[in-house]
Amino acid sequence: EQDLRIARIASAIRAIPDFPKPGIMFQDITTLLLDPEAFKDSIDLFVERYKDKNISVVAGIEARGFIFGPPIALAIGAKFVPMRKPGKLPGEVISEEYSLEYGTDVMEMHVGAVQEGDRALVVDDLIATGGTLGAAISLLERVGVTVVECACLIELHELKGRENIHAAGAANSLRIS
Ligand code: AMP
Repeated sequence: EQDLRIARIASAIRAIPDFPKPGIMFQDITTLLLDPEAFKDSIDLFVERYKDKNISVVAGIEARGFIFGPPIALAIGAKFVPMRKPGKLPGEVISEEYSLEYGTDVMEMHVGAVQEGDRALVVDDLIATGGTLGAAISLLERVGVTVVECACLIELHELKGRENIHAAGAANSLRIS
């Protein structure tokens, strides 16, 4: 039954070649959002996995972690904290620089959104190199939060992103592409 749901989710995600630049196979989850049953299946699978794990905060990574994170947070009774691109959050922030294929990027989180002792689930749509999730984990750990696991729908296995993530549970992928 779980495999059936995963198969439905996988077939609702489309791959678009050469976006945003040549050579990249972009995994587009917007088509999953058009299929309410498959979208709900994706949230339900995560909720089933995380509901009894004592998670107090769901940290969603801009932008697609803002789509999947909040429904999971509501269902498991956790707060939702956005992890944003620089300059977007109005309050005091702490930031973490991380490397991309070319250059670097910065992730920010509001100071005071999480407390020491919080237990976090980090949510994004996809793990490639793991650099993005790694930055989120570092930010949370710097302020005393325990990262229980990272949840993504898609894992690009060949990039070995899991190895770049030192969180206890590493990534939980629903789909192999
Ligand atoms: P990484 O930091 O290398 O693990 O990259 C993961 C981040 O980049 C996630 O926020 C993804 O949404 C995005 N991303 C990377 N590669 C792809 C891809 N092929 N299709 C869609 N999104 C991607």
